[in-house]
This record gives sequence, structure tokens and C-alpha cells, in this order.
Amino acid sequence: MDFSLSPEQRSLQERTRRFIDEVVIPREPEAPLDNSGWDTLRSQLQAAAGEAGLFLPHMSSAWGGMGLDWRTCTLVFEEAGRSLLGSQALNCSAPDEGNMHLLEKIGTPEQKERYLQPLAAGATRSAFGMTEPAPGAGADPSLLQTRAEQRGDRWVINGRKWFITGAQGAAFIIVMARTGEIRGHGGATMFLVDADNPAYTIVRKVPTLDTMLPGGHCEIEFNDCEVAPAAVLGEVNKGFEYAQVRLGPARLTHCMRWLGAARRAMEHAVRYAAQRVSFGARLADQQGVQWPIADSEIEMHAARLMIWHAAWLLDQGHPARHETSMAKVFVAETVNRVVDRAVQICGALGISEDIPLAMLYREIRPFRIYDGPSEVHRMSIARRIFRRADEARSG
Ligand SMILES: Cc1cc2nc3c(=O)[nH]c(=O)nc-3n(C[C@H](O)[C@H](O)[C@H](O)COP(=O)(O)OP(=O)(O)OC[C@H]3O[C@@H](n4cnc5c(N)ncnc54)[C@H](O)[C@@H]3O)c2cc1C
Repeated sequence: MDFSLSPEQRSLQERTRRFIDEVVIPREPEAPLDNSGWDTLRSQLQAAAGEAGLFLPHMSSAWGGMGLDWRTCTLVFEEAGRSLLGSQALNCSAPDEGNMHLLEKIGTPEQKERYLQPLAAGATRSAFGMTEPAPGAGADPSLLQTRAEQRGDRWVINGRKWFITGAQGAAFIIVMARTGEIRGHGGATMFLVDADNPAYTIVRKVPTLDTMLPGGHCEIEFNDCEVAPAAVLGEVNKGFEYAQVRLGPARLTHCMRWLGAARRAMEHAVRYAAQRVSFGARLADQQGVQWPIADSEIEMHAARLMIWHAAWLLDQGHPARHETSMAKVFVAETVNRVVDRAVQICGALGISEDIPLAMLYREIRPFRIYDGPSEVHRMSIARRIFRRADEARSG
């Protein structure tokens, strides 16, 4: 086991940290708090990231990216995550980053040119549509209700989705629709739908606790939405399989970014506790403050090691489903605890908008729900454990 970073990795990590501190964090007060009006800020920050040689860390040079392996991405994404604007600046934010990977992996050359090229260049944004209002797909994707059927030489999509991040202002959406009997990983297909398709509608932007993602979380509708056969992404009926291809790395990159956000919260807690005097001593000298600070440090370290290990597995070509699942649960719960402790340590200042803790508190809570709620990951992890036990028993 070698946990050391190469000189190149260390320099990249430091460069990203400096870029976030010197260029991105000073622009935070300009961030719109209602998910809209992002375009100018986003493109200015992306231009600055390009000049700093930090644009598109996760994509190959063929798409203008830095071509980093997952292990090196952990360093850059964590640093970027210290600001909620960081991954926008580097063009490695959700859902675009996962969509880029998926398009690169399974898109046709025409789809790559039409959708991936502008997305990678930062000229467009995208969305990914799986979740539906009850009784449709949620934590259980097999409840998928949105349907696509072939009529002549066209596919026709009908259904409603919600909580579709970034849909407002996105140039296209990758939508999951039922095209057959849902069995195992079969029965669903991914389609690329242009935002200007007249039968695709954004019904509303759902008002949510978190407010800092361009395009918000939207409810959308497909009403006899016709698309050409060329809109099928990958093969028909393989949608769930591709969702796993997308989600494995995508949930790990969420972990990387949010770990950076937790670090930022910790920095504020430490700074405050080191200066504030209460009952005759600095907070930093009171055991009741030292222990939560220590707990946060311990848990963030464990979280980082889980992320590094899962990233290393992905670099070996391993799907790392079990490991990304475990990391998702642990990191999501850790970052929520770390931010909550930081708010408590900073007292009233912690819930003010004078420092970014209140914003982090709002933004971080949904991470325990999206990309699989913690309970559902625990269910999958346990199922794998018992499956292995059954296999071992039956020899
Ligand atoms: C901020 C945000 C952004 C999102 N972005 C997107 C997006 O871009 N695209 C998209 O398609 N979706 C998106 N989602 C939706 C997200 O993927 C779903 O919320 C998630 O899959 C859970 O589905 P649900 O909300 O329908 O919860 P439900 O399926 O109704 O489950 C509700 C709760 O029940 C519990 N639960 C469910 N099953 C079990 C079980 N087996 N055992 C124990 N407990 C269980 C969990 O606590 C879960 O949170 C987003 C959600 C949020 C909050």
C-alpha cells in the first residue's frame, strides 16, 4: 500500500487549492441564491479555470479535459468542493460530469459531437431524468412509469419526472423510460431529448432546501414526445445497466466534492473556536469543543480513505459497486455531522449568512437522499453480504 502522492499530484492539489482560495471563493457573494442567473458567473469562472489549467479534470484530452485518473480526481474534486462554485468553475459538477462520462462511454460518434462536445466545452448544461412522483420510480427504480413506445420510425415518450437537477436552462436531458418488462437490469432505455422539443415541458422548479445548483430541481413532463431512433443512448432495454455505469463514479465524485465542503465547514469551526473566549477560556481549550472537532477530523479522514480506495478500484477497471455504496453512505452521513458540529461550535454566527456554514448546511442535507438514500445503500450492501454467505455455504 502506498498512500503517498506523486510530486505532480501534490502540485495539482496545491494549484487547485490556490485557485479556489484566490479566484473562486472571492466570487461567492455573486452566486445567485435561487438557482437562476448563473450563466455569466459560470462562464467567467470556467474561463479562469481554463487559464489556470484546471478545466475539465475528469475528461480525456480528446474532449479538452485534463485526463486525470480517478485517484487524482479525488484530490482535485475535494479541493474544488471547498466552494460550492468550485465544481462549476472546473466543469465537473453534477449532473453534467456523470452525463459526460456516460456519453463518452456509450454515445455514438454523432451523439458525442452533438451533445458531449458542447457540454465538455462548458457551452451547455444537461440533466438526467430518472425520478418520478409516487407511485413512480424513486429509491426503487423498478417502479419506472415513464414509457417510450415505437410508432413508425419514431419513439414516443410519455411520463412525468421530478427533482431533475439543472433541467431549467439545460440544452438536453438524458431520460430513462420503460420500453419493456422490467426484469433484472432489462426493460428500460435511455433517450437523449433536446430541451426545445415541443412535447417536453418544464412544469415547475420545485422549491427546495438547497438553492445553489444552476437550473434547480425541476418537475418535467413528456407529452407524446417524439424522438428519432438516433436519440436512443446505447442499446434499447439496457438503461438500468447504463445507469449503474453512470452512478458508480458519479456517486463517488459527489463524495469527493462534499468532503471538500465539510473541510471548509471545519475550517470555520476551528477559526472561531481558536478565538472565541467563553467561561474564562478559549472554546478551543474546552473539552466539549475539542471532542467534536476531533470526531470530525477522524471521520473526514476515514471518509477520504474510503473515497481513495474506491477511486483506486475504479482505476483498476473494477465496478466498485460495493465500495462506492459504502463510501456514499459513510461520506454523506459524515459531512452532515461535520457541518452540523461546525454550526454548533460557531453559535449564532454559524446560522448567519456572514459565513458559508448556513449555506453548506442547506446544501449538504439532500446528499443523504439522492444517488440512493442511505437506507437503500445499506439494504444493497447487506444483500451482497448475505448473497456471499449463501454462496459460501453452498460451496
Ligand atoms: C437535491 C436532489 C437532487 C436530485 N436530482 C435528481 C436528478 O437530477 N435526477 C433524478 O432522476 N433524480 C434526482 N433526485 C431524486 C433522487 O434520486 C430521489 O429523491 C431518490 O432516489 C429517492 O427517491 P424518492 O425521493 O422518491 O424517495 P422514496 O422512494 O419515496 O423513499 C423515501 C424514503 O424512504 C426510505 N426508503 C426507501 N426505500 C427504503 C428501503 N428499502 N429501506 C429503508 N428505507 C427506505 C428512504 O429514507 C427514502 O429517503 C434528486 C433528489 C434531490 C433531493
